Amino acid sequence: MSHSEFEIISRYFDQQGLAFESDSVVLGIGDDGAVLDIPPTQQLVMSMDVLVSGVHFPQGAEAGLIASRALAVNLSDLAAMAAKPFCFTLGLSLPEPNDSWLEEFSKGLIPLAQEYQCPLVGGDTARGPLTISIQVHGLVDRAGAKRRGAAQVGDLVFVTGTLGDAAIALLALDQQSHLGPGFKIEESAWSEPCERFFLERFYQPSPRIDFALAGAQHINACIDISDGLLGDLGHIIKASGVGAELQLENIPYSASAQCCTSMTNRRLAALRGGDDYELCFTASPEKLEALMDCAKKFALPLSHIGEIVEGNDISCFEGEQLLADATGTSFDHFGKEHA
Ligand code: ADP
Ligand code: MG
Repeated sequence: MSHSEFEIISRYFDQQGLAFESDSVVLGIGDDGAVLDIPPTQQLVMSMDVLVSGVHFPQGAEAGLIASRALAVNLSDLAAMAAKPFCFTLGLSLPEPNDSWLEEFSKGLIPLAQEYQCPLVGGDTARGPLTISIQVHGLVDRAGAKRRGAAQVGDLVFVTGTLGDAAIALLALDQQSHLGPGFKIEESAWSEPCERFFLERFYQPSPRIDFALAGAQHINACIDISDGLLGDLGHIIKASGVGAELQLENIPYSASAQCCTSMTNRRLAALRGGDDYELCFTASPEKLEALMDCAKKFALPLSHIGEIVEGNDISCFEGEQLLADATGTSFDHFGKEHA
């Protein structure tokens, strides 16, 4: 390792707010590997997300925003497993060391690391195209991790927060959307506060850790929504060997989405957009009240949007009416098609 790399690590990454001490970190940044104490009754959950410049965030995006997004999407995976954040590692490839970029980037990691008491314990730094790889580690009680394959026929389907906002943010960022040329904002309703809201939803998604940990005992199957509701609920039904019925009118939208997009477009954003990082989960009907109470405690909107049924695909209803084509694409055998 060159002198400058050593300096980068000690100045920006091995800093108090980020690589902070915890009872479990026996040895953090600085040796050939980190050493951690894992409580004997718990299991380690590991998850990794790689963010590539120009693919997962716009080239030239602010370093601090890239950092918070990279850590948030990783923590969201821990939320989906109902795992308590434990620590993380960072693989950073960057074109050339730039002090102000590194300063902003490392600062951008601190708030979430602090909020979830998830210290940085190691990583690797290399020269190359800007790519951020984060691996988060979490803890669950033995056999306590939430899996995609645990949905039961008769379960209710829930989502946290509001859907579609991040897909709409891509329009504000002038990024190409895979949702087609008809996917657009209503220019006349667009305002600066709306734009700010959407960008925040894209760059600073809130990992639903607190709710997932508090509600875990009531939840059967769980996933975080990174590829649109249909795709991710599709993973749950496939893994569980069941089908699902959705009531589209119960999908939750933000006030900004309601003001800036047509019904068709915000539905498209929720069903087939991406990057929402809300949780989609199933639970038996008698847990509804406990889950609603739990969500309320965290001031988190929670919506009951459907039901798990026998079968192998997702049917979308509006009221009593079965929609064959709710977003311009057939839902027929959706579960199979997207498996
Ligand atoms: P080695 O040559 O033994 O692989 P490195 O030179 O890659 O070690 O890293 C030295 C120390 O700095 C290690 O403890 C490593 O985990 C840590 N480290 C390197 N890059 C990062 C980074 N981007 N973030 C956090 N820790 C890092
Ligand atoms: Mg190394």
